[in-house]
Amino acid sequence: MDALITVLPGDGIGPEVASAGVSVLEQIAQLYGHKFEFSEQLIGGAGIDAENDPCPANTRASCKESDAILLGAVGGPKWSDPNASIRPEQGILALRAELQVFANLRPVNTMDELAEASPIKTDRLKGVDIMVVRELTGGIYFGEKTRDQDSATDLCTYHRYEVERIIRVAATLAQQRRGILCSVDKANVLETSRLWRDVTTTTLAAEFPDLDSEHMLVDAAAMHLINRPSSFDVIVTENMFGDILTDEASMLAGSLGMLPSASLGESTRGLYEPIHGSAPDIAGKGLANPCGTIASAAMLLRHSLNLDEEAAKIEAAIHATIAAGVRTADIAGDSGHYVTTEEMTQAIIQRLQ
Ligand code: NAD
Repeated sequence: MDALITVLPGDGIGPEVASAGVSVLEQIAQLYGHKFEFSEQLIGGAGIDAENDPCPANTRASCKESDAILLGAVGGPKWSDPNASIRPEQGILALRAELQVFANLRPVNTMDELAEASPIKTDRLKGVDIMVVRELTGGIYFGEKTRDQDSATDLCTYHRYEVERIIRVAATLAQQRRGILCSVDKANVLETSRLWRDVTTTTLAAEFPDLDSEHMLVDAAAMHLINRPSSFDVIVTENMFGDILTDEASMLAGSLGMLPSASLGESTRGLYEPIHGSAPDIAGKGLANPCGTIASAAMLLRHSLNLDEEAAKIEAAIHATIAAGVRTADIAGDSGHYVTTEEMTQAIIQRLQ
């Protein structure tokens, strides 16, 4: 298989983890006889520094020509002036909107071997296997913003079609999994959530009558995620709630650095990135956990290139590496023994062979 993949390293630890993802994809190409061509482009702060644009024209063009996009992370103190009109995060939001990748899939799994890395009691972590489906191109992150000296507003808008299409994605995934769907909203307070709940109820009744579904308020969901995480199968929610709940859920897996994501639209072209940010506190030190990005590369193979066997091979190699006791600092616990980003990547590549 021939494929063109745009790589957007970004800022902070972004380049370190993106490079790990590319190394693993190169190894897969070699093992299976595929030809992956990589086009590296600017995003975020790197785009601002070079072209005064967090999502330069070349980046957009390359992404649109590609079969898939692998992104590291953006942002950092250098570009965090609250009065700045151009910010790194605008690059990712622009890209998500332009590529119309409205469905962000964030799998959250626990590994027994990492139970010690989690602050949650071990007995709660058994059998956790959740797919969070986050709406990605609507809601408060994309609404009109105003600001004066003493007040500020962020508009949150959802349209019926936006809710319908994300519910269809989540319900279809639930059908392929354990058949349980939890839709998370804040319908007791927000009008957008009341629309969300109405559309969800109607869509599920008409198109997915056999699914075991429920509505849950986001505050209760935040609590149940910690209290009884293994009871969830697919969670579907709007943009900001999904962003926050998945950072919380990452503590089940042991570290923010473990979780991958796939952002998908109507076509097979997808945007793949770890759920963490640019982690400026550890950038350039070889401390970044590359597992989330490497697992994102596996999702890229599965969802954009239809290479299921290769994707499963990467996921098995990550698991085998963790099972063998190899740890980056964030998941090392009290042992004090850990390897660098590059060593973790090589340990995973070794287990692909
Ligand atoms: P963050 O996710 O970058 O880091 C939070 C904490 O988790 C830090 O202590 C960090 O060291 C740790 N961490 C994150 N990824 C890790 C990894 N792979 N391995 C080991 N430890 C890891 O969140 P933050 O510190 O709140 O934000 C830093 C910058 O990232 C900000 O500018 C923010 O806007 C940006 N951000 C970008 C994205 C994105 O690119 N998609 C997402 C979230 C935040």
